[in-house]
Amino acid sequence: MKVKWWLIAGVTVALLVLFEWQVFLDMRLLPLRTARVPLRELRPWPDDFLQAYSPRFPLQVAVLWLSSEQTPLGLSHAFRQMGIPFCVTDRLDEALRHPLVFIGPSVDGRALSPAQAEQLSQFVTNGGVAFIQLPFWGGLKPLCGFREYQSTRTRHWLSFVAESAPALRYLNRPEERRIRFGADGYPEIIWTTGYVLHDPGMAVLAEYKDRTVALARRDWGRGVVYLCGVDLNHVIIRNQTNHDPEAERWYLNHFEPGTDVWLLLLRAWYETHQPDAIRLGTIPNGHRSALLLSHDVDGELSISNCLAFAELERRLGVSSTFFMQTKYLKDALSRRFFYGPTLEILRRLKEQGFEVQSHTVSHCERFDRFARGTGRETFSQYRPYVGEDNQCPHGTVFGEVRVSKELLDGELPGQTTAFFRAAHLKFPPSLPEVLERCGYEFDSSLAAGDVLTQFPYAIPLNLEFERDSQLYEFPIALEDEEAPPLGQRLDGARDLIEANAENGAITVALIHPDSTDKLAAEEALVQRLPKDIAVSDLLSFARFWRARDRLAWQVQSRPDPREVELTLTSPEPLSGLTIEFRRVVEAIVSGGGRQLDAHRLVLPALAAGSSLTLRIRYAP
Ligand SMILES: [Zn+2]
Repeated sequence: MKVKWWLIAGVTVALLVLFEWQVFLDMRLLPLRTARVPLRELRPWPDDFLQAYSPRFPLQVAVLWLSSEQTPLGLSHAFRQMGIPFCVTDRLDEALRHPLVFIGPSVDGRALSPAQAEQLSQFVTNGGVAFIQLPFWGGLKPLCGFREYQSTRTRHWLSFVAESAPALRYLNRPEERRIRFGADGYPEIIWTTGYVLHDPGMAVLAEYKDRTVALARRDWGRGVVYLCGVDLNHVIIRNQTNHDPEAERWYLNHFEPGTDVWLLLLRAWYETHQPDAIRLGTIPNGHRSALLLSHDVDGELSISNCLAFAELERRLGVSSTFFMQTKYLKDALSRRFFYGPTLEILRRLKEQGFEVQSHTVSHCERFDRFARGTGRETFSQYRPYVGEDNQCPHGTVFGEVRVSKELLDGELPGQTTAFFRAAHLKFPPSLPEVLERCGYEFDSSLAAGDVLTQFPYAIPLNLEFERDSQLYEFPIALEDEEAPPLGQRLDGARDLIEANAENGAITVALIHPDSTDKLAAEEALVQRLPKDIAVSDLLSFARFWRARDRLAWQVQSRPDPREVELTLTSPEPLSGLTIEFRRVVEAIVSGGGRQLDAHRLVLPALAAGSSLTLRIRYAP
């Protein structure tokens, strides 16, 4: 048959026109409302740790910091996360006015004089407690009890070996008794120091595989010395900024306490040796832990399911956070869906009291390699097309962060987007700065295993070791994408939640609403949770955590030795904070609050900027 050339040409042209029309429709910008997202200046940082954490009362643990090159950022995180009062000083005599002293990052012959070593020795003899990190100086051998030491970068594993040492009391699980500093594939990892002791009476608390001592306790006179061969400050901050040489044994869905063992060690050390120890609890209202529910809404399929998850959670009497991808462009990943019907669903979620937060614009897997951008990215010109190869040449960190907030704040009544979760948990180093400058307050983009911690923390700027951003990180512990399906590994999930509860840590759960099959698993998980584990959305808990972290408080003794006075000033609204006392509390004399048991009370709610004076009477 003879096909007419003009017919072929006509059909081709028609198809081309149709195709171009579709492309035109897809390219055409949706008529979405945006809110202005002003670019803020970074909040100034009190460069000087000595000023930021100045000595104010004897109950503070004194950190004697002997380096001007490193900052004690990791240690400050640990004490803040554990709610332990502390101060930082570079003067020995000032440090020794506090009964508990942490000395670091290392001590060599230039850091202390022989007279000062003698002063320190006298302090311990008279009942002081010193935690001495990395003593390299012969002048400290008599006090610290070591004969020699070896520093290398090849020790991958550490084991806590003492059976019943009070300082190890929180390290009860196998994952806590043995931890890793780096994956075996790395021949060289972080520096550690192993000691050989000269005093056989010392209690060895931790050792490396080569059987040299990593941590030991020595009772000396009326006091106690701890000898430590691990740079806790460095390990903590390195893990929290995800610069560890893949120290994690598990990425998600398994208890990975590689950072937390050091936090818990410091907590137990404080509680063991400070008879008047007072600490801020980590979980509000006396609960042991909190399960924080979140959902990542990644595509069209998920959107229609959101309401079913909301309905279940309303029935269970709990709340959650929906991280919403604001996809307004069609690309190789998916169609666009942030318009019309999606917005209706998001508005309904908000009306029902659920949190809606940002989960980027493009959801590109290469987000961690995006350029930082300029901060001028707006909806009207930001076009992050993701290609077949997963490349997104026009994507920027500022674009993903700022434009998603413009849209969520513009389209949802009463919305102020404050929380961010990166796509595929990929975290570019510029993210803390970009989030802070765009007015975000919290992030949940890191896997708990990756940062080896189950506690929230202030995330440092540029993921460096020098200073914090204003952002707080809430690492994800439990998720639903690993096989087998969540419904078939609920026992493992419960064990993870319980392991966290034993430490007063949280469990952040991520359940994608891409299938309603997961409803049953979530229901079973929430319903069978022990009563003393709270369930919350991310934002409510995050606000509590930040207010707790920023609380200024001090403890003063009273003329009556059975009484103590706490003065607390909260820059932010703070509700439900639990305070823990080592001594037995007989009564709250004044200031209000609710006593939970002999050792704990819940503070009355504090309004932003308010102060409270609390007087406590201890039992005789
Ligand atoms: Zn996602």
